[in-house]
Amino acid sequence: MKYVCVFAHPDDEMRCLGTLLRLRDAGHEFAFVTITTGDKGLPYHPPEEQQRAAEIRTVEMQEVAAYFDAEYVSLAREDGFVIEDAELRADLIRTLRRVGAEIVFTHWTTDYNPDHVLTAKLVTDSALLAPLSSFAPSPGVLAHAPRIWYVDPGPGHGFEATHFVAFGPEHAQRKAELIRSHRSQMDVMRELSGGEDYADQMAEQDRFTGRRLLVDHAESFRPCLTERRIPWPSDLPAHPGLV
Ligand SMILES: [Zn+2]
Repeated sequence: MKYVCVFAHPDDEMRCLGTLLRLRDAGHEFAFVTITTGDKGLPYHPPEEQQRAAEIRTVEMQEVAAYFDAEYVSLAREDGFVIEDAELRADLIRTLRRVGAEIVFTHWTTDYNPDHVLTAKLVTDSALLAPLSSFAPSPGVLAHAPRIWYVDPGPGHGFEATHFVAFGPEHAQRKAELIRSHRSQMDVMRELSGGEDYADQMAEQDRFTGRRLLVDHAESFRPCLTERRIPWPSDLPAHPGLV
């Protein structure tokens, strides 16, 4: 199966990395797509450094993609100002076709970040049109609309998880290392939080979710319930198989 992460920014994939690691073990293939390059990702630096932020974050995202032997595509929209328009939707439709998307992980439909919310809608809409050749004509029209799983955005956004993927300490360690590939963002979070970085925060959330299932760590998801894009439970790794 071809699993495609479509998120707004480099590093948003952190919310499903444990699951991706288990899917990787099972021999699946991956691609990573971001709508922006994350050019505002150095918020304590002057605006003229936005281009440098984009370059740094592209390299960081490429490192994560390389671990999964995956392509990384950025649609290069401006961080913080993602607006859905015909060109962006067509870009994503063509990208989903080109990478051969079968299953997509993306943001939950409500979130703290406007780019995330727009990306969730964009993915849901583009997935419907990717198999229809009259929309955004391009080669490689998909046989079926990609099936969509929304990732857990954390508390406060009305996300009640319905599906869970457990993973063990080895994958938790690897997940933390992959998150820390986004070195520039770890520095930002340590400044914001007074010491903790995103890897620490995700590990805490994964342990909290895992406690509900009596496992070490878990990530959680909700399926897209809109017709043609509804995923199968078997798209996610099953328990057992903790590594
Ligand atoms: Zn983000």
